[in-house]
Amino acid sequence: MKIIEAQRIKNLPPYLFARIERMIAQKRAEGVDIISLGIGDPDMPTPDYIIEELSREAKNPANHQYPSSVGMINFRQAVADWYGRRFGVELDPKTEVVSLIGSKEGIGHISWCYLDPGDTVLVPDPSYPVYAGGAILAGAVPYYVPLTAERGFLPDFADIPSDVAKKAKMMFLNYPNNPTGAVATEEFFREAVAFAREYRILICHDAPYTEVAFDGYKPISFLQTPGAKEVGIEFHSVSKTYNMTGWRIGWASGHPDVVEALGRLKSNLDSGQFQAIQYAAIAALSGPQDIVAYNNGVYRERRDILVDGLNEIGWKLEKPKATIYVWAPVPPGHTSESFAELVLEKAGVVVTPGTGYGPKGAGYFRMSLTLSTGRLKEAIERIKKQVGTVKF
Ligand SMILES: *Cc1c(COP(=O)(O)O)cnc(C)c1O
Repeated sequence: MKIIEAQRIKNLPPYLFARIERMIAQKRAEGVDIISLGIGDPDMPTPDYIIEELSREAKNPANHQYPSSVGMINFRQAVADWYGRRFGVELDPKTEVVSLIGSKEGIGHISWCYLDPGDTVLVPDPSYPVYAGGAILAGAVPYYVPLTAERGFLPDFADIPSDVAKKAKMMFLNYPNNPTGAVATEEFFREAVAFAREYRILICHDAPYTEVAFDGYKPISFLQTPGAKEVGIEFHSVSKTYNMTGWRIGWASGHPDVVEALGRLKSNLDSGQFQAIQYAAIAALSGPQDIVAYNNGVYRERRDILVDGLNEIGWKLEKPKATIYVWAPVPPGHTSESFAELVLEKAGVVVTPGTGYGPKGAGYFRMSLTLSTGRLKEAIERIKKQVGTVKF
């Protein structure tokens, strides 16, 4: 019997990396030593004091039962305290913070709270694929807002047609940005609040990289913007800050109605995250923060190797101020796919074609800084030797 899929899952965009993944598998089978710059997942371990807190709390039978879908009050308090210390943002832990099973879970589910079939949602292009994916699963229609190099990969609100803005119910934003490495300014966030107010649009700001930044730059939170809490929420997590992507714990904070709606949806779908993991996240947010400076030192050294190396071969890249990514244009005469296939075929190096993040990613590729300096140097050497210098 053929099992017929629901239309909503058929509507998901096709998986773009299938061809590259087949090539990688074939190369590996041939014994080629592949260097993958494709994975956006911190390679350094979670600090010991966080793991110890998990072990301690895992032994407490009180933590073995169902947790609350919205998170323990002490977890939500730790998030509120961290926002206060880090951003000077005041949050009521009872009504303005909800725990998530990783921020991706909430980003995927928020569309179910605010988008009905046929509704318009503004999605940056390029962007993290979960924004469009979650919206499409809810039956909504993404309107792609281009992010261009000329505008520092910040959307131009004035360029969104007013009939589209009038229809739109929600907009996703993400700074520091994956995949472009771009950062937002206070002025940009003020424009976002004004735009949201004018057209009654809920802003969902995704902020997992606020702690991953270099050269003295300190990213801001959307919630620092006057009026932000009245028009939006911010997603965040311990994943990128404390090397905890596998632990699956994050949160959304901001507008109390939105926090409540997300909590109500979740209470129908999941039962929250294991309390021992919530305790570990409290330890991460409340404990010593040396790990943040340490990680950033490591990523900065890697960023410099990658960017300086590519610039020696002919690129003219600026160093990103934040995130674990370098976003670069492909050499003239190439598409994202043809260039990714060329460096894989010739140099055994995997980069992500920009088109995986939306149509406007065409002409770009993304590299991540989650490999050792030795491997990054080797990747540069191989590209230099096998692909040669390029001219822009
Ligand atoms: C890594 C990442 C996330 C997801 O983080 P989790 O909290 O681990 O789910 C969300 N958004 C962007 C842009 C990311 O790069």
